[in-house]
Amino acid sequence: MAVVEKGLLLDKALPYCPGCGHTVINKQLDQAIRELQLSPLDVIVVSDIGCCGLVDGVLGCHTVHGLHGRSAALALGISLGLQDPRKKVVVVLGDGGATIGLAHLLEAARQNVDMTVLVQNNMVYGMTGGQVSGLTPEPVKHQTLPEEGQIPPFNLVQLVHDAGAVFSARSLVGPNVKPLLREALETPGFSLVEIVEMCPSYGIRKVKELKAVLPFPEGVWRRHRPVRRIHAETRPSLLDRLPGIAGRYQSALRRRVNVLLAGSAGEGVQSAGELLASAAISAGLCSTKKGEYPITVGTGFSVVEVILSPEEILYTGIEVPDVALVVSQDGWDKVKTRLAPATRLIVDAHLSIDWRHPAERLDFRRTVGGRSAALAAVAYWLKKEAVLPIEALKEVSRNRKYAPTLLQAIEKGRKMAI
Ligand code: SF4
Ligand SMILES: [Mg+2]
Repeated sequence: MAVVEKGLLLDKALPYCPGCGHTVINKQLDQAIRELQLSPLDVIVVSDIGCCGLVDGVLGCHTVHGLHGRSAALALGISLGLQDPRKKVVVVLGDGGATIGLAHLLEAARQNVDMTVLVQNNMVYGMTGGQVSGLTPEPVKHQTLPEEGQIPPFNLVQLVHDAGAVFSARSLVGPNVKPLLREALETPGFSLVEIVEMCPSYGIRKVKELKAVLPFPEGVWRRHRPVRRIHAETRPSLLDRLPGIAGRYQSALRRRVNVLLAGSAGEGVQSAGELLASAAISAGLCSTKKGEYPITVGTGFSVVEVILSPEEILYTGIEVPDVALVVSQDGWDKVKTRLAPATRLIVDAHLSIDWRHPAERLDFRRTVGGRSAALAAVAYWLKKEAVLPIEALKEVSRNRKYAPTLLQAIEKGRKMAI
């Protein structure tokens, strides 16, 4: 039998308790991959919550770690996105993850998406101390939850078969697993192998004890259906449809500047940030804008992070702002802990701020009103620092709704800097 040199498992100890069924199963998956002569670079393992999800750290293939029960949904997207039969998308999840995300499994089976799901069913939540899952059989459940002991577990293999899986199988941990995994991996379409196994720390310790509580028979169920494919079509991206910003102006900026603009929701703070970023682009700079405001839009703070840079911006977060323009108390309360002594602080004069470092206080709100204060502060700073021509800010404001008001705020802000 042909065997490739490199399997899935890196040369590391597996991260499980002694005697854990996950160790046995992962080794068999490794051997199945080797025997099929699959390159680890053609294998994408999508793992899930629980001890079985610890496998990522010992795999030498592509790995994606999913949230609780969502691995099948992730794998569905990966498989449909790849549309490449040479790539093997393998979901590794436990009985907990399988029942938390049952709808995702059924949907992938219904659509017959090309993937192999490996359910490591040790009948308990091992990682959190042995709680029952939707696959825990009645006798095991009865030991810990007598009142629930009569509720039967899901027959997962039957469910995915009925949903449309082309290959579904159940087996106790042991020598049957590897051939099942091989067949599952070789079958185009949705395949699921449920392996009933031990969790010596919190569940069943021996195979013979597993046999005694196995609620559904071992077996293999097959059917033929076409594999789900998607019709790939290239369309212009939404970004391509955005009107471009002509680079008519020039900026003297030679280094990246992180700007924090803070005020109250509903007072044009986000718009002011967008106009600043647009003006920067029209002056030949790179710029990003990121807004933050409470879910209750219209009340509370409104904060914008704007980065201006002559270089490409590879990291769009702002850890310490170089400049903070703060025009309302909501805004100050939100950002005051983000400022550093070196941050240039420009605040509205009426704010009550507990700040022991230099700050410029200007009467933006009284001069232009609360709704225009943020834009006036932007214009003030641009003029004062000569970051870029104030005309660039006016230009990007001209085709906006309320352009006359915006232009008036910019002009008044500009004059405050003279
Ligand atoms: S707690 Fe159970 S499932 Fe988790 S590693 Fe230990 S034996 Fe395995
Ligand atoms: Mg489990």
